[in-house]
Amino acid sequence: VNPIDRLTEAFEHFPGIGPRQARRFVQYLLTRPAGTRAELAKAIGELGASSAQCKSCYRWFVKTASQKGFCGVCASTSRERGTICVVEKDADIDGVERSGYRGLYFVLGGVVPLAAEEPEKYVRLRELVHRTEADAAKKELSEVILGLSATTEGDHTRALLQEKLAPLAAALKFKLSSLGRGLSTGSELEYADPDTIASALNSRA
Ligand SMILES: [Zn+2]
Repeated sequence: VNPIDRLTEAFEHFPGIGPRQARRFVQYLLTRPAGTRAELAKAIGELGASSAQCKSCYRWFVKTASQKGFCGVCASTSRERGTICVVEKDADIDGVERSGYRGLYFVLGGVVPLAAEEPEKYVRLRELVHRTEADAAKKELSEVILGLSATTEGDHTRALLQEKLAPLAAALKFKLSSLGRGLSTGSELEYADPDTIASALNSRA
């Protein structure tokens, strides 16, 4: 495979990118100076060495010596440690942060397709259960907020999580809630503005 086709194929695997956009990316790179392409290749190469996945919330972050495997939010002492907002992906955290939320997070790693028989293959369900149990054991946990998109798969995933977490919430005495009205049907959390997310957080139930 020639480099143009190889790179096009690589871009096609990016979220939300189709074959036509992938080709446009490659064509754009071809028009850039060689130095720009080299810079990009270097940044991609360094990504693995400089980043790590948080041991607690599973988001990716730039490593620092002091945090010992935890992202800035999980390592912070000024957050409300009793609240966990469960989101689909890293990009959702940015929007929730801008809404003024001060609790912690858990990144599911996706949504569960409607026909899926084993949800664990698509999202970090086991890890989420483990996290709630661990936080509850430390007497830290007071609420888990399901911050999923108002899409069909988001709704389906929320229902699965509620089913799985409701018995835990009762046993470990934490509140289980979901984002309320504000997010219009079909909208993804990633693209919601901070005011909308703030209102959905305030009306959670
Ligand atoms: Zn974290």
